[in-house]
Amino acid sequence: MKKGKILLAVWAGLLILAVPFCNKETRILAAKAVAGKGMLRLVFDAGEHPKVALTFDDGPSKKYTPMLLDGLKKRGVCASFFIMGKNIAGNEELIRRMQKEGHLIGNHTYNHVQLNKIPQNLACEEIQKTNNEIYEVTGVYPSYIRPPFGAWQENLELCVTMLPVFWDVDTLDWRNQNVDTIVKIVKKNVKDGAIILMHDEYQTSVDAALKVVDMLMEEGYEFVTVDGMILT
Ligand SMILES: [Zn+2]
Repeated sequence: MKKGKILLAVWAGLLILAVPFCNKETRILAAKAVAGKGMLRLVFDAGEHPKVALTFDDGPSKKYTPMLLDGLKKRGVCASFFIMGKNIAGNEELIRRMQKEGHLIGNHTYNHVQLNKIPQNLACEEIQKTNNEIYEVTGVYPSYIRPPFGAWQENLELCVTMLPVFWDVDTLDWRNQNVDTIVKIVKKNVKDGAIILMHDEYQTSVDAALKVVDMLMEEGYEFVTVDGMILT
C-alpha cells in the first residue's frame, strides 16, 4: 500500500468515528487523498451555511482562556486550541473543560520549536511528549498539530501520525493587540472554509474573537472545529 493510501485509510477511519461537536448538520460525504506530498484533502458536506474555524495557539492561559471559553459557550460555538506542552502542567482542569465543552485540542509542540530547524528525532520528541501529556489529561491522543511558524517537515509523518493544520486568515493579534484591527482583518479576509489564526493569550484577542463570532454568525457563518474543514 502506498504511503498516501495508508494515510487516507488512517484519517478516513479517524474522521468517520469523529462526532461533530457543535454542528449536528455537518456530515462527512467523502474523504480523498490529494496526489503528492502525502497531504490529505477531506471533502465535507458543503451544507447550507458557509463554514469557518477559529483556532487559538500558544495556550492555554490560566487568565484568558477561561474568559474565552465562557464567551464561546454562551454563543454555542466550538473552536480548536493548539496547546503547548509546557503549558499543560497546572492547567489540567482547564484542558478538561475545553474537551468537555466540545472544543478540539491539538498539539503546538512542547516548547514552540520551529520543526524544520531541528533534527527529526528532536522534532518527533517535541510532538510526542506533548501528545503524551495531552493524553494523560484528556484520555485522547490529539490528531492535529499546528506547527509553530507554519513550519513543517514532511518526513515527520513517518514518526507521528498527525495532520498539520495551517491557516487562511492571520489576525496578527499577538502583534497588533487591537480589537478593531483584528475584527477588520477577519472581515476583509474571511471566506467559506477559512481557518482563522488567533492566540488565547491577550484580552484583546478574547474580546476580538467573541466580536468575530457575533459578526460572522450574523452573516450566516457556521463555526466548526478544524476536523470539520478542508485541510491541505
Ligand atoms: Zn505559536
